Amino acid sequence: MTVLVAGWFLCDAASRPVRDSGVRVEDGRIVQTGTREELLATGDADIIDRPDCILLPGFVNGHVHLYGTLAHGIPMSSAPSGFWSFLQDYWWPRIENRLDHDMIEAATDYVCAEMLRTGTTSFFDILEAPGTLPDGLQVEKAVAERRGIRGVVTFEACERIDRDNGQLGLAENGNLIEASRPTDLIQGAMSIHTTFTCSPGFIQSAFEIAADKGVVCHAHVNEGVHEGKWCEDNLGKRTLEHYRDLGVAGPGFLASQCVQMTAVELDIIAETGIRVTHMPLSNCEVGGGIAPIPELLGTGTTIGLGTDGYVNDMFEVMRSTFLIHKARLLDPGAMPAHDVLHMATAGAADAIGIEGAGRLDIGSHADLQLVDATFPTPVEEHNLLEQLVLWRNGSHVRDVMVAGRWRVTDGELVDTDIDQLLAATRHQSKRLWAGS
Ligand SMILES: [Zn+2]
Repeated sequence: MTVLVAGWFLCDAASRPVRDSGVRVEDGRIVQTGTREELLATGDADIIDRPDCILLPGFVNGHVHLYGTLAHGIPMSSAPSGFWSFLQDYWWPRIENRLDHDMIEAATDYVCAEMLRTGTTSFFDILEAPGTLPDGLQVEKAVAERRGIRGVVTFEACERIDRDNGQLGLAENGNLIEASRPTDLIQGAMSIHTTFTCSPGFIQSAFEIAADKGVVCHAHVNEGVHEGKWCEDNLGKRTLEHYRDLGVAGPGFLASQCVQMTAVELDIIAETGIRVTHMPLSNCEVGGGIAPIPELLGTGTTIGLGTDGYVNDMFEVMRSTFLIHKARLLDPGAMPAHDVLHMATAGAADAIGIEGAGRLDIGSHADLQLVDATFPTPVEEHNLLEQLVLWRNGSHVRDVMVAGRWRVTDGELVDTDIDQLLAATRHQSKRLWAGS
């Protein structure tokens, strides 16, 4: 058993921070919470006491494309003129269609290490790389489990190549779900691309497989203005009206992005219980807009934050979430720190369907982080969450545990040669870029 005590303990974003407290870990789970005195009285030999740190749940990155890191800085002859051009002229031909197993193996290993180093203990990955079928997901699962991080890996099935490739994508997800044992760190789920790359029958089959296997079905929804307009022009209705009419809107639907939404679409989310993930930084990158997340939070929607494979430090995503909605709504009281931290932890875990993650109450996974708390101003109960959200970044993460195993200690990744991971990823980036 291991006892962890810190200067401050935060069980979850909705709980009151408490001084000089922590947790006791056994078999990868939290078995006790309490004060320093209570926990030290257990007599356990393995004691970690960090009076200068905040102990809090590890982050849950609700939406990442692990391979995305290979495209950071790729040469572009001209900037895309909009979201459709971004996909059609850049992302599909120059990145996703060129990915192979060696590329995703290197990117998965490096990004999992990068996420752990900056306090992320769980993730939901979406791989769209038609050339990696079959078994691209098996490559990701093996690498991520070796790295010791928890997560869900999915293949973003669609019919943009052809119908057969679409079926291979559905089977890729189904096979990984079947092959995973409940105790595995990495699990599967279902994922499809969008309404403009998936036919109605294809969408319904994906949701049927997901419901049958008890997992969520993810889709990108209205990441910019393109999809909603495409649906209006081709179907005479908006994107989420289409999903509703296909009979698949409900809690089993994980809708990422949700940027350009009509009032009717927001009502569909609220009324059916669709879960949402929010990626403010990548929405800026593609010129998509700012998603109406405070409005959705007000309806009780389950929402998680994600990096989208762009800037993979969840502190940066939290800070942008905290700020961008205040600017959009002209309201400094919008998007308080506790809502932001909730979406980066338990909210994301609930959205992507990992039970017992994103919180440190008894019975939860021992997925946690210790963050340096030596701020230039006092840390108090009333300001601790804002201190974390606004004034910390990944370099302040001291220790990270996943499933009761230390993955980062004193700011260093355990059992990891980061230089070797960087070199391998750089090599695979050059291979990808050579075709561009
Ligand atoms: Zn995405």
